[in-house]
Amino acid sequence: TDLAHIRNFSIVAHIDHGKSTLADRLIQSTGTVQDRDMKEQMLDAMDIERERGITIKANTVRIDYTAQNGEKYVLNLIDTPGHVDFAYEVSRSMRAVEGSLLVVDSTQGVEAQTLANVYQAIDAGHELVPILNKIDLPASECDRVAEQIEDVIGIDASGAIRVSAKTGVGIPETLEAIVHHLPPPRGDERAPLKAMLVDSWYDAYLGVVVLVRIMDGRMRRGDRIRMIQTGATYNVERIGVFRPQMEKVESLGPGEIGFITASIKQVRDTKVGDTITHEKRPCEKPLPGFKPSVPVVFCGLFPVDSAEFEDLRDAIEKLALNDASFSYEMETSAALGFGFRCGFLGLLHLEVIRDRIEREYDIELITTAPSVVYHLFMKDGTRRDLHNPADMPDLTYVDHIEEPRIKATILVPDDYLGDVLKLCQDRRGIQLDLTYAGSRAMVVYDLPLNEVVFDFYDRLKSVTKGYASFDYHLEGYREDNLVKMQVLVNDEPVDALSMMVHRDRAETRGRAMCEKLKDLIPRHMFKIPIQAAIGGKVIARETLSALRKDVTAKCYGGDATRKKKLLEKQKAGKKKMRQFGKVDIPQEAFISALKMD
Ligand code: GDP
Ligand code: MG
Repeated sequence: TDLAHIRNFSIVAHIDHGKSTLADRLIQSTGTVQDRDMKEQMLDAMDIERERGITIKANTVRIDYTAQNGEKYVLNLIDTPGHVDFAYEVSRSMRAVEGSLLVVDSTQGVEAQTLANVYQAIDAGHELVPILNKIDLPASECDRVAEQIEDVIGIDASGAIRVSAKTGVGIPETLEAIVHHLPPPRGDERAPLKAMLVDSWYDAYLGVVVLVRIMDGRMRRGDRIRMIQTGATYNVERIGVFRPQMEKVESLGPGEIGFITASIKQVRDTKVGDTITHEKRPCEKPLPGFKPSVPVVFCGLFPVDSAEFEDLRDAIEKLALNDASFSYEMETSAALGFGFRCGFLGLLHLEVIRDRIEREYDIELITTAPSVVYHLFMKDGTRRDLHNPADMPDLTYVDHIEEPRIKATILVPDDYLGDVLKLCQDRRGIQLDLTYAGSRAMVVYDLPLNEVVFDFYDRLKSVTKGYASFDYHLEGYREDNLVKMQVLVNDEPVDALSMMVHRDRAETRGRAMCEKLKDLIPRHMFKIPIQAAIGGKVIARETLSALRKDVTAKCYGGDATRKKKLLEKQKAGKKKMRQFGKVDIPQEAFISALKMD
């Protein structure tokens, strides 16, 4: 296909505004997939994505479209990940295309992820086609939302296409707009090969599959290629396009998007954003702006049943095969035994991996408090990265500590603004901006990532009854007065409950934690002191009083089956408990104790 007849685009939208449904309609109405083969959400492959309604990995489809002027076009749609954790992958896939459909739910309006994603599209130099979706619903307010798009995003929305991705209204107009309003790709077929590595994943039959966008030159089956950032070389074995199932082609030229396989061993060997060229005739400069995605949130994953450690290792290794941004190493904890310290791109990423281990591999997990990566500046002038509060060295060696900060954008109806400001303030936030878009406020905060990783999003949802939307990106590191707080149960430190806190908040956090643990730990035959401490200094303390009598005592002489049931119940409860010295701590204590309300 000549460049003038190619259009490459993505769809940007807030979650639930109809991105996947619109993609389905575009695929279906062009006959790319026969009606009888049509499943809902064609591009959302993994179960967990379907369930949560989020797209985690970029997916792509090539659509043949004959326009109303009779010309035949090839449209390549890249479906980008919809969540902030995958911001870098979003920005890469955006750079692989020239335009975006900006989908806004006309019953809702612009939300935080609409903004975050549309700014990424604008940064990537995209032309935008605004689309007002869900016009079949009575609550649809196209004029108001179009005005809001103009006010908040600052683009002309007077020609916004009114669509119902559900009924198909506006789909022909959308296809025409893609062809007439989005620019064709540029590129030089005679120049040395320059292709972008947009994404990669592990396929059980094919091994590692790499999604590529050709910028210049032509890639053919059998070519010897080099990945510029990793330096590795491979032979291209298969080359093809997605319709959306894989279909072989002989070669891919400028402007085209497709996949290759090349006997690449692991997804880890491919770096999203890398430049692929020919070994023999390489391009002069790699594509700009390459930065590997690095994990920012760490936590420990331990099997509840320590006999399942090997199963857990197996599960983690399998998951890591397909997810290069997920890192892990073995960890031993005095309290929890053998497990893994794992790194994630963000909280959602953590949740997805944890859920998959529990559901797909049927392993019950204890997850320790998520922690961010702190920079420790040592008195000897060196810098250390702290991934686990348990590894915090003695403070006398530490000069100062820096923590990661984020810039968070929150959109919220006026009525809840006060609660949102209070929440952000409570989490050591610094307000950067406050503006209005209709009856919604848009606040921008500088917040420590540490205060956001655990339950910020849940709290935000609950104080705003679900009406707030939230998005963030990492801004950088800043020094603050941070200390490690330890928790001692029956005078034994429980390393899995150690955390880094701001000095000014330590007492409050410590007190709250001790009070919670007092409720969460069952009473034993003896008194149990529960303490929070910084260094050797106790800053909060509670005492769990002793149990007076045996739980089965009341059954003596009574119903034997009832007694047996009670003991069985106790045993089942035990399974989820961990012993710390002489004390059993239930699994949920680790999570609950760390939540701040
Ligand atoms: P995504 O998160 O942006 O991919 O959104 P989805 O495509 O998964 O859509 C979210 C929900 O909105 C689903 O329940 C869809 O069925 C529904 N939906 C999408 N488009 C329309 C539409 O035009 N009209 C109506 N009534 N519902 C829609
Ligand atoms: Mg979706």
